[in-house]
Amino acid sequence: MKRIAVLSSGGDSPGFNPCIRAVVRQGLDYGMDVFGVERGYIGLIQGRFRQLNARSVGGIIGRGGTFLGTARSEEFKTALGQREAIRNLNVNGIEGLVVIGGDGSFRGAQALHERGVKVVGIPGTIDNDIPYTDMSIGADTALNTALDAIDKIKDTASSHRRAFIIETMGHESGYLALIAGLAGGAEIILVPEIETKLETIVADLQDSYTRGKNHFIIVAAEGWKPGTQALASHLRERQEELGFPVRVTVLGYVQRGGSPSAFDRLLATRLGAAAVAALHSGESGVMVGLIGNKIQTTLLSKVVKQNKSLDMSFYELAKVLEK
Ligand code: ATP
Repeated sequence: MKRIAVLSSGGDSPGFNPCIRAVVRQGLDYGMDVFGVERGYIGLIQGRFRQLNARSVGGIIGRGGTFLGTARSEEFKTALGQREAIRNLNVNGIEGLVVIGGDGSFRGAQALHERGVKVVGIPGTIDNDIPYTDMSIGADTALNTALDAIDKIKDTASSHRRAFIIETMGHESGYLALIAGLAGGAEIILVPEIETKLETIVADLQDSYTRGKNHFIIVAAEGWKPGTQALASHLRERQEELGFPVRVTVLGYVQRGGSPSAFDRLLATRLGAAAVAALHSGESGVMVGLIGNKIQTTLLSKVVKQNKSLDMSFYELAKVLEK
């Protein structure tokens, strides 16, 4: 294989840049020409290719975001959009494609594979919800950002004897809330995967107050129902019975940015190099992932069929430790 391209797609996460750097430099080491595609599948449809050399990816290893840009493309979900993308790959003589993204991006990659394009996926999402990899690129950095915020909020919560609801990202996945909550010593963790009744939260708050706690930290994923604003209103209505006044902090997009952690840089680097090695050895329609401490490939068709479920042992452990 002489010519490959790399694109980032869907929501960005910290570590995309070191991953692209590894793809480019590993490709050059194999003697390949490497092209970057701007703005994910949109760039593929529009033929926005840029040849990259070792210098093009200099100085980006510690930068958040993705210097190629990323996007979502409805057009690419259609047969016409995919045909345009394949045409552009052919016109530019590109024989292999690396796709960095989440499960939606992998559905797109699988569609290309089924149409004969050689393609390898790399898992990148702060939700860490992709199966067949222990970690996805960006999740560790996002966790550390959330944890830093929890620690800071805990300081003021203790000083003022307050309850705080801290909302993390995660529409369908409670991973960030669970792990940041566990590592940050939250009193209660609320995730979309587990139903928690408002009455249970009220009882926990009252109990903590009686036990002499001087703060109560609730870490909630944005996808938890009925939602942090509804919870805050309910708790405010009952403030007299609770003991603690309630404040809300929504962490939002700060969790998606920032310099990638050491873990994410290393993961991104290993996965980027492994994806090119997979293309080089003729593999296609696979995702490279970290299982145990080994980089392993799994068929994309398997990856997109499954959801990664939350590790309930962490949830149980958090419940034991919240005393
Ligand atoms: P995130 O974790 O941020 O959601 P993602 O990769 O899952 O990342 P999506 O918006 O779901 O993000 O998908 C990114 C892009 O992949 C879509 O905009 C679309 O172009 C393409 N894509 C998604 N699903 C399909 C599909 N079934 N067939 C072809 N392409 C798809």
